[in-house]
Amino acid sequence: MDIHEYQTKELFRSYDIPVPDGRVAHSGKQALAVAEELNGERWVVKAQIHAGGRGKAGGVLMADNLEAVEQHADKMIGMTLVTKQTGEAGRLVQRVLVEQAHAIAQEFYLGLVIDRATQRITLIASASGGMNIEEVAATNPQKVIREAVDPAVGLQDFQSRKIAAGIGLTGKQIGQVAKMLKKLYRCFRDKDALMAEINPLVLTKDGQFLALDAKMSFDGNALYRQPEITDLRDFDEEDPKEVEASGHDLNYIALDGNVGCIVNGAGLAMATMDAISHYGGRPANFLDVGGGASPEKIANAFRIVLEDPNVMAVLINIYAGINRCDWIANGIVQAIRDLAIEVPVVVRLAGTNLEQGLQILQGSGLEYIQADHLSDAAEKAVNAVKGAES
Ligand code: ADP
Ligand code: MG
Repeated sequence: MDIHEYQTKELFRSYDIPVPDGRVAHSGKQALAVAEELNGERWVVKAQIHAGGRGKAGGVLMADNLEAVEQHADKMIGMTLVTKQTGEAGRLVQRVLVEQAHAIAQEFYLGLVIDRATQRITLIASASGGMNIEEVAATNPQKVIREAVDPAVGLQDFQSRKIAAGIGLTGKQIGQVAKMLKKLYRCFRDKDALMAEINPLVLTKDGQFLALDAKMSFDGNALYRQPEITDLRDFDEEDPKEVEASGHDLNYIALDGNVGCIVNGAGLAMATMDAISHYGGRPANFLDVGGGASPEKIANAFRIVLEDPNVMAVLINIYAGINRCDWIANGIVQAIRDLAIEVPVVVRLAGTNLEQGLQILQGSGLEYIQADHLSDAAEKAVNAVKGAES
C-alpha cells in the first residue's frame, strides 16, 4: 500500500527525520493560508499523487510570493497530472503539499528496499540524487551503492557510515546522515514497510540535511497490525475495480490485456495468465476467487472483470477441490443471465462435482465455449478474442 508524500513526511517527523515545514491543502485559499502560517519568502507547491516524476511534469512549482502559491494550487488541484510513472491516463490531483522552499547545495538519493534475492532490507544510495536517478541507475550503475542489513543484528553504525562516506560525505556530515539512516531504518521496520525513498535528500546551502521528497509503501499483508498506516490509505489512488474486488473478498489486479480471467487459486490464476500469453493473447486481469466461491461471488467476479472495457472474452478456469463445480456452474449461469454478457465466455471446470456442474451449464441453454483443460481453455479464449477483433 502506498501513501502520499505529505503523509510520509508526517511519519518522518514522528521519527525525528528532518523534513521541510509544510502542510497539505485542498484548495488555493487553503494553500495560501498554509503559506502564510509557514512564514518564509519562498514556497513550493507539490501535487499529491501516488506517483513520482512530478517535478518534470509540472507537479512541483516554486512560488516567490503568496499570490503565486494560491495560483499554483488552484491550477494543480483538479488537473490530471501525467508523469513518467502514472501512465498515459495520469492521476487526478486532489490536494497539494505547500512547504518552505530551501536553497539546495546538493541532492542525494537514499532508499531502503527489501531485496528479494538476498531476503534482506537493503540500503541504496547515490551522490547523484534528484530527478534523474533512474537515468543514473541505468547508465552509471556504479554510482549507486548498496548495503544489505542482517536481520539478526539490524542496521549497524559502520554500515550507515559506510553509505554516508560512499556518497562523498566527510567529517561531521557522515554522522548526521548516518543518524538519519538509523531513524529511517527504525521507521521502516516498525511500520512493516516494503520501500522507503528519500529522493532527493538535500544538503541545504546553510548546511542542513533534509528529506525534500519522501515516499513509502507498506506490506498489505501486515496492515492488520498497522492501524495508523491503514488509516492513511487513499482509495482514490487505487483502481476502483481493485477496491471493489477486495470488498467482495476477491483478489483482483487490473492488467492491460483483453482476456478477462476468473480463476480459483493464485497459482492456477498465474498459470492461466501464462497459458493465455503462450497462445499469443494478453490477460486483462489477475483474479483469484478463492475456495468456496458462492454463485454471488462468481457474479461479482464477472461484474468486476467486465467493468474493464478492454475485455473481449472471459476465461473461467476452476479446479474444484474445496470448491464445487455445481456451485460455480450456478454462478456462471446466473451471471450470464443477469448481466446480459455479450462477450464470448470460455469455461473450463475440473474436480469435485464436475458432472453436475456440466449438466447445469448444458441444461441452461446459454451460449458458452466449453474447454477440457488449461491449454485448451487458453487457446479457445485467445481465438475468441481474435474472432471478435476480425
Ligand atoms: P518528484 O520526485 O515527483 O519529481 P520531488 O519532491 O522530488 O518530486 O521534487 C522535484 C524537485 O523539486 C526536487 O528534486 C527538488 O529539486 C525540488 N524541490 C522539491 N521540494 C523542494 C523544496 N521544499 N525546496 C526546494 N526545492 C524543492
Ligand atoms: Mg523526488
